[in-house]
Amino acid sequence: MEHGAPKRDIDFVLSKIEERGFRAHPSIGVERTIIGVIGDNTRDSIPYFQQLPGVESVIPVLKPYKLASREAHPQTSQIRVGSAVIGTEAIAIAAGPCAVEDREQLLSTARLVKDCGAVMLRGGAYKPRTEAYAFQGLGKKGLEMLAEAREQTGLAVVTEVVDTRAVKEVAKYADMLQIGARSMQNFALLREAGASGHPVLLKRGLASTVDEWLSAAEYILAEGNPNVVLCERGIRTFETATRFTLDLSSVAVVRHHSHLPILVDPSHAAGNWRFVRSLALAAIAAGADGLLIEVHPEPARALVDGAQSLDPDNFRKLMSAARKVAKAVGRAL
Ligand code: PEP
Ligand code: MN
Repeated sequence: MEHGAPKRDIDFVLSKIEERGFRAHPSIGVERTIIGVIGDNTRDSIPYFQQLPGVESVIPVLKPYKLASREAHPQTSQIRVGSAVIGTEAIAIAAGPCAVEDREQLLSTARLVKDCGAVMLRGGAYKPRTEAYAFQGLGKKGLEMLAEAREQTGLAVVTEVVDTRAVKEVAKYADMLQIGARSMQNFALLREAGASGHPVLLKRGLASTVDEWLSAAEYILAEGNPNVVLCERGIRTFETATRFTLDLSSVAVVRHHSHLPILVDPSHAAGNWRFVRSLALAAIAAGADGLLIEVHPEPARALVDGAQSLDPDNFRKLMSAARKVAKAVGRAL
């Protein structure tokens, strides 16, 4: 309550708390009164209490998400994705081109990343492009190539879905649906992906808080789909030296508040292949459960995100350095 709020205001607030079926726990001081409110769905009443006379501020104690919280599930969840498992002692590496461009490009990249120790192949068939006339991906043909690459290598496949109407089709070909940064708050897409029961990789929105991100995960979980993995990919800040600012604090914060495993994507954060290795190593040291890395056989010829894609040689180097860091922090790779 406000400093010196009259008893009349305090009594009115107490009566409204009871009226709404909550329990009030007032702590009445000489100058200040603080009222604890306990009950189900108290969050919905925050705006109501906020506007009552004498109320200074309403501070939610509980998080806006339940199923995603560590309270709901003290152990970190282990999510099976095709032949891979994310959230174990082992660091899971998903790697591949930004976009599926052609069969040879995809298959050669798949063989390379498998050979280097990746357990998942990434590659976009539907690309969420900022520019309307930019290459939008090969669509169904791309999905077919991803499925072929899985058959040839045994790698699990993760690919983005941008449209609610395509969820079923993408789920037919891929082991995991990626919901991209630009779609993180597409609630219809989150619900549809949840209803599919398919594993979902939920990337952090480029201007979203950790609470908003976990609330987005809650939409998927609330559909009865427990197979959610988060992916930090950098956020917008004032800094322009990198494409986005990789927020590695989110790894520690997510670990603390949630049981969902978390991958880090240093490629989209950096926007420049030169910075990818150090960000990737830092992510493992910070406690990430895995990495999502863009790799292209010839980055200079890539149709999308060539500047941040590692060539085969640099990917190999990254993996050998990552192994050492993983070992140093008690993880396997
Ligand atoms: C991607 O992974 O290719 C992608 C588009 O990433 P983001 O949604 O994080 O920008
Ligand atoms: Mn990309």
